[in-house]
Amino acid sequence: MDCVVIGGGVAGMQAALSFRKAYSEKTVTLVDNESEVGYYRTLLPQFMNRTLPENKLFFWQDQDDPRFTIISGVRVESLERENRALVLSDGSQIPYRRLIIASGGRPVIPPVCGAAGIAGVFTVRSLTTAREARVWLPQHPEVVIVGGGLVGVKTAAYLASQDIPVTLIEKENHLLPQALSSQAAQLAEEHLLRNKVQLLLGSTIEDIQSSSGSISAIKASGQWVNCRTLFVAAGSVPEVTFLADSGLLREGNLEVNRALQTTDANIFAAGDAVTIVERDNFTPWTWPQAAVQGQLAAHNLYLPAPFSLSCLSRVNAMNLHGLSLVVLGIPVEGAERCVYTNPAAGVYRELYQVDGRIVGGALVGDITNAGKLHWMMNIGDRIDTDFTELLEPRLETFAKMSPSCAKLNQRAVFLPS
Ligand SMILES: Cc1cc2nc3c(=O)[nH]c(=O)nc-3n(C[C@H](O)[C@H](O)[C@H](O)COP(=O)(O)OP(=O)(O)OC[C@H]3O[C@@H](n4cnc5c(N)ncnc54)[C@H](O)[C@@H]3O)c2cc1C
Repeated sequence: MDCVVIGGGVAGMQAALSFRKAYSEKTVTLVDNESEVGYYRTLLPQFMNRTLPENKLFFWQDQDDPRFTIISGVRVESLERENRALVLSDGSQIPYRRLIIASGGRPVIPPVCGAAGIAGVFTVRSLTTAREARVWLPQHPEVVIVGGGLVGVKTAAYLASQDIPVTLIEKENHLLPQALSSQAAQLAEEHLLRNKVQLLLGSTIEDIQSSSGSISAIKASGQWVNCRTLFVAAGSVPEVTFLADSGLLREGNLEVNRALQTTDANIFAAGDAVTIVERDNFTPWTWPQAAVQGQLAAHNLYLPAPFSLSCLSRVNAMNLHGLSLVVLGIPVEGAERCVYTNPAAGVYRELYQVDGRIVGGALVGDITNAGKLHWMMNIGDRIDTDFTELLEPRLETFAKMSPSCAKLNQRAVFLPS
């Protein structure tokens, strides 16, 4: 097999499709644990609240390509590098000449939520679990979500939009702590409160109670809360357990260089599974980065001198059922923060700068010029313009700048919502 891809999420699927395009005479086989591949994981909250039908979840459909084989519902159990083969859960083996690992992440389950056999406890990661939750929810509408990161906040926003009572528990003192400053997060918090989501910030889940085998209540910060459906969205870790004996992991991480190559020259990796050993060990945890990385890994597979990833950012655009939000980069310690606010319009915009260069920021409530600000951050040049002026949500801002900036037409890439 010219190329084998592990994982049929966005990174793996993008890798397989890009490989077929770049190397049209070569064959690719993709293996995934789940029974379906090529769907928008990002849209699972809208699927669970029944506003999105299942057929709209898929970004890929089988094209009858004889050189592209998909093996689904089968887990890769181990990697035997000396034989260049994968051992699968059905007992078979697949040989490879080149391999791309795109096995994504797996949810972190706090021990208290992991009690076996209690019905009504779900993670938010796979279509299979989302289907179960979708069926369960209408009869069990008192929802608690553990974790106020991206997945928990999106799930809360979309369930609450359908008048499902939701309590959201976050251990930090503000929502989206990995992505936003407390000031930027405030608008997201107000948005959820307006949608009748109850927020328990600075709280952790301490205990759960069940009745007749189903979840009935949870205890957070000493307080019992009725709960008939519990979503665990307490973060993810790279899913690389099947590589434990492969010799590819360092301190449990699947490390790659900026060309996405592992320590084995025949093996590349992409998406949530990888740790890029540069700039404080970077794992993307975003859809756009996973897609770009899948594409690059595929192109690099047979190149004598692989290309490096040009952009390492966590930039991310989303809509929390009525609140637009763009994360340009996480708050940076030691950076100077410039802020634009318009509380009456529900707008908060901030940029982090070091030495006149944009190094992060967030736009909440109004994402005008997000694409241009992202572009300026990526090229990393010093900016002479007043940052506060840059932050004003006016399209003309960039027209006044250098001719090259005036010509810019980049847009923030929106995920379907
Ligand atoms: C509810 C939700 C909302 C999100 N919203 C956003 C958003 O708004 N914006 C954003 O940028 N990101 C968002 N994300 C994150 C984004 O979805 C991920 O960053 C992205 O899906 C990562 O893609 P991936 O291909 O690396 O991994 P995954 O999508 O996790 O795919 C990995 C695949 O590998 C398979 N696999 C794993 N191990 C094995 C094995 N041993 N054998 C075979 N197959 C295996 C898994 O079954 C899985 O299908 C969201 C995530 C969730 C869950």
